[in-house]
Amino acid sequence: TALEQALAALEGAPFALAFASGLAAAQAVLLSLECGDRVVASRDLYGGCHRLFTKVFSRFGVSFDFVDTTDLGQVRRSLEAPAKWLWLETPSNPLLSVTDLEACAEIAKRRGARTLVDNTFATPILQRPLDLGADLVLHSTTKYIGGHCDAIGGALVTRDEALHAELRFLQNAAGAVPGPQDCYLLLRGIRTLGLRVQRHAESAAQLADRLDSLPGVSRVLFPGRRDHPQHGLASRQFPGFGAVISFELEGGRDAASAFVRGLKLWTLAESLGGVRSLICHPATMTHASLTPAERAWRGIGDGLLRLSVGLEDRRDLWDDLEHAAGSVRAAPRECGTGADRAALPERAAIASHAPARTREEAVR
Ligand code: PLP
Repeated sequence: TALEQALAALEGAPFALAFASGLAAAQAVLLSLECGDRVVASRDLYGGCHRLFTKVFSRFGVSFDFVDTTDLGQVRRSLEAPAKWLWLETPSNPLLSVTDLEACAEIAKRRGARTLVDNTFATPILQRPLDLGADLVLHSTTKYIGGHCDAIGGALVTRDEALHAELRFLQNAAGAVPGPQDCYLLLRGIRTLGLRVQRHAESAAQLADRLDSLPGVSRVLFPGRRDHPQHGLASRQFPGFGAVISFELEGGRDAASAFVRGLKLWTLAESLGGVRSLICHPATMTHASLTPAERAWRGIGDGLLRLSVGLEDRRDLWDDLEHAAGSVRAAPRECGTGADRAALPERAAIASHAPARTREEAVR
């Protein structure tokens, strides 16, 4: 109860529910659906949620459509068919794309769908989706809210009393609740959340600015960079920009592997949002359950690496990255070929719609 009250306060809501993990929180939402229901989700989202959707709940007759939610026209068209939820992740994992929450929540409301926002990467310190019209916020509290990589948890937060009651029933009925030790650790983490997120974000902004100066780095994905496609939106909706950075190495998987082997301070691990800096190779870790074609369609190449910037000394972090880049040998690219894309013709068709000219036009 103490943890739920703290989580609700952080998101500016009267109701929160704590779960045993972020995926357990996602599962509770999906358990509220029935056979025949439909969910429209961000194309770029945590691989575990994609796996839960397509490999578990699709077996029970729930259908999932993935769209590029940075394109409001695609969101609007996908919601022309009835859907229960618009499931958004912004900034997204692992490509850090930024979705216009206010516009999407408005589109969903007009078409009778509820909007869920996975706010794990942004944290309530940098982004409060309920203020922008979302119905439900999801957190993997395992990440920034816990902050020390020593607890696992999840949360759902809402202002809607009826939705809260429905999910509270499922929290109890399905039983994926957190233990008291994890609740204690998460509450302890919340005490320093504001300070940590501020420092995480400052360090990330400095590293993101310099990353493309490293040999072999072909692109850097970070909403705080001016070359990020949604930098303007991110500056309004998500000032602070968070502390996850992704970048692509020219040499594909071999280069990524050599880079990771060259690091001393950054630890290879799936998690993020803790005091220690972590690096992850999405293609073989967080998004390994997607097929190569599904990864290629999303733009997750074999040379992509994701950084979670911790609280260590920034010079040490940079020196380690510089050293690792020096140890990379060039290797051919393997992913994102034309053949991969051709394997998903129906999705390619969704992506090829002409974009709306204005935000208002897209919402309409
Ligand atoms: N949502 C996002 C954005 C995540 O990155 C993760 C895990 O990495 C989850 C949800 C799932 O959280 P958990 O690992 O606590 O089950």
